[in-house]
Amino acid sequence: MEGNYVELVGFIAENSGLEVSEIERKIEAKQAKLAGLISKEGAAQVIAAELNINFDKQEIKIKQIVPGMRKINLTGKIVNLFPIREYNKNGRSGRIGSFIIADETSNIRVVLWDENHIELIAKGEIKQEGVIEIVNATIRNGELHLTSFSEIKASGKAIDNIVMEKPTLTKKISEFNANDNVSSRAFIVQMFEPRFFYTCPECRKKAVDNQCQEHGRVVADKKALLNFVIDDGSDSMRSVVFSEQLEKMMTKDEIENPELFAVKKNDLLGKEMIVKGQVRVNSLFGNNEFIINGLEEVNMDKLIEELEK
Ligand SMILES: [Zn+2]
Repeated sequence: MEGNYVELVGFIAENSGLEVSEIERKIEAKQAKLAGLISKEGAAQVIAAELNINFDKQEIKIKQIVPGMRKINLTGKIVNLFPIREYNKNGRSGRIGSFIIADETSNIRVVLWDENHIELIAKGEIKQEGVIEIVNATIRNGELHLTSFSEIKASGKAIDNIVMEKPTLTKKISEFNANDNVSSRAFIVQMFEPRFFYTCPECRKKAVDNQCQEHGRVVADKKALLNFVIDDGSDSMRSVVFSEQLEKMMTKDEIENPELFAVKKNDLLGKEMIVKGQVRVNSLFGNNEFIINGLEEVNMDKLIEELEK
């Protein structure tokens, strides 16, 4: 969250009256003193505490959130309210509420664990498009979590110009966290055969023998997925690309015809690409997997052009 770190330093400067360069110097000194035991985000929070900047009572913007931050207070608009889910795991059961909240700087998924908070959704006091205030939340895997120590309530404030685009961070693979929306430059180092499956054209769920559980007999769509491994030198990660994106990588014939696929695969292996997507936990294996939603070959001319801006 490089951009968020910059935002955090700006926030500390604003609330302490010191220059940004002065704050950065203090952070570097703190990190040096702790001999690499603390991240620069962590050091920034220590400096904030030393300067008596109390996040407890301050509202921050979504873009200022950094990993490890506690006692987060913010106001945002609910742009996507998800249905309440029930869980039953290891003898514990309960409900989970979740939604995406947005402000003028970014957006983030919020997860509610407390029954009293979830009841506010059930009763419609917390609703789609509603502006809410959150007090004392923590950040976990790139999501905001509210426990029984947190507060949530409807706010009278209005928020204009909310940011709806998913924030994309540029990161090394070794720094990928679950649920991150990231972009990275990496090489394709291994590629498997495409796999095919069928979906219902109405609900896009799996259809077996042209039968959808919900819509009965349908003419199912044939879809493909391709698994490959990307590596950027810091780490490697198993990735998956589905039909729509896959068709931007290769032609339909190359996807369907094993011989043509073999030629294309040979061409792609070892190629450096800019990959964008979301890091997801594969529930079957418990490891992280990269769901690719954008992919392009590294264009050196374009990169240089951007660096010169
Ligand atoms: Zn269906």
